[in-house]
Amino acid sequence: MAVTGRGPYDPQNVFAKILRGEIPCKAIFENEWVLAFYDIAPKAPVHVLIIPKNPYVSFMDFSQTAPAEEIAGVMRATGQIALDLGLEENGYRLITNAGLHSGQEVPHFHIHLLGGKALPAFPA
Ligand code: 5GP
Repeated sequence: MAVTGRGPYDPQNVFAKILRGEIPCKAIFENEWVLAFYDIAPKAPVHVLIIPKNPYVSFMDFSQTAPAEEIAGVMRATGQIALDLGLEENGYRLITNAGLHSGQEVPHFHIHLLGGKALPAFPA
């Protein structure tokens, strides 16, 4: 079910459980700011989710309340992951669903990184 994109943060959401190690994920990158792992239902040959380690419900929550250093850290990590996966040459897509109209399902801010083929015209 889609979420509103506003708080309060639900510590039982699936990404919070992944961060706590309560459910497994196929992680590909981790640093002080983010954990990145493969989406369980990939929409492209490469479909990675990048999530901040801190508890933000949505893009709005993250962009308006996170310290600038953390915002930079998450963005820098996202670019690094795209580079590490070899996506820079042929391109990729970043998506963040935010709130009801977007269909955001998991109420922990995340960035979808999609690539590995020519993607459908936006919006998919
Ligand atoms: P949203 O619709 O909230 O932007 O995207 C949530 C994404 O999380 C979906 O693409 C969905 O496939 C993925 N997802 C949901 N539950 C799990 C899980 O337990 N593990 C992983 N790796 N991905 C999940």
